[in-house]
Amino acid sequence: MRIRLTLFLFLIAVIPSPAYCWGFYGHRQINSIAVYLLPPPMLLLYKKQLPFLAEHAIDPDKRRYAVAEEGPRHYIDMDHYGVYPYPLLPRKWEQAVQKFSEDSLRAHGIVPWHVPVMLNRLTGAFRKKDLAGILKNSAELGHYIADAHVPLHTSSNHNGQFTNQKGIHGFWESRIPELLAEKEYDFFLGRAVYLRNPSEYIWQRVLESAKASDSVLRIEKELTAIFPSDQKYAFEERNGVLARQYSSAFTIAYHKRLNGMVERRMRLAIFSIASFWYTAWVNAGQPDLHELAKQQLDEQTLQRLEEMSTKWRSGEPIIGREE
Ligand SMILES: [Zn+2]
Repeated sequence: MRIRLTLFLFLIAVIPSPAYCWGFYGHRQINSIAVYLLPPPMLLLYKKQLPFLAEHAIDPDKRRYAVAEEGPRHYIDMDHYGVYPYPLLPRKWEQAVQKFSEDSLRAHGIVPWHVPVMLNRLTGAFRKKDLAGILKNSAELGHYIADAHVPLHTSSNHNGQFTNQKGIHGFWESRIPELLAEKEYDFFLGRAVYLRNPSEYIWQRVLESAKASDSVLRIEKELTAIFPSDQKYAFEERNGVLARQYSSAFTIAYHKRLNGMVERRMRLAIFSIASFWYTAWVNAGQPDLHELAKQQLDEQTLQRLEEMSTKWRSGEPIIGREE
C-alpha cells in the first residue's frame, strides 16, 4: 500500500514534536506507517488508535529518564563480542547468561532479547483482549524494533565518541529522515508477514545493523575530509527553531554516499514492526477486535502515561548512556 503524501503531511502536522528530542520524529513516523501494513481485522483497531501508537512510540526513551533498567533495552554493543557475525555470542538468552553473566550482558545492551519479551507481552494482551496492554505494548515494541534497525545502536562507538564524530548518532537517525523522508523516501511496502521465528528474525536485523555500522562511521569521515569545512554545519530551521546542525548540503551528500541506507533501514523497520504486531495477533488466536475498536482507553492508564511524560519534561538527567 502506498502512503499518500497528504496522509504523511497530515501525520506530521498533527503530531507535535518537541524541539529537544532527537530521534522522536522517526519513531513516530515508523509506528504510524506500520499500521497500514496490517490486515483489515487488525487495521480497524490500529488505524483508529494511530495517534496513540505514534505518540507512545517514544515512551521507552522517556522512561530512560526514570528507570535504570531501561537504557540497555535500546541497543547492543556487538563489537564487544568480537567481529561479524559474532559467533562467540549465543543468541539464546539463557546460554548467553551462562557464558557472560546477566550483569555483563545488560552492561552492553540487550535489544535483541528484549524484542521477543515485548512480543510475548503483546501476545498476552491480545489473548486477554486488554486494550491498554495491546496499545502500550504495540507502541513500545515498535520502538525497540526500530532501534534494532539503526546501525549505531549496535556499536559501542554509538555517537562517534571514540573517533571524533560526536553527533553522528542523531545525524543518522534524526537529521537525515527529518530532512528527506517526506520528500524523497518511498514507503511503498508490502503487507505484514507472519514470523515463524521472531527471535531469529530480530537477530538478523541486528546483525545487518552491526555490519553497516562501520560504513556509517567511515563514510561520514571520508565525506568530512573532502567537504568544505565551513559548510558541514549551518544554522537551519528545525521544528520551527533556528539551530546549528549538519547542513542540508552535507546531509544530502552523506545520504547519497550511504546509497540510501537510512531509507532502507527505515522501510525495513516499518515492515518488521507490522510483522511483529501481526505475529502477536496470530499467536493469540486472531481475536476479533471489533469491540475493542469501539472502546476508549481508561482514565487510570492515561493518567499513568501522563505522569511519565511530566517526569520526562521536568528535565531530569538520563539514567545510563546518552544516544
Ligand atoms: Zn530508543
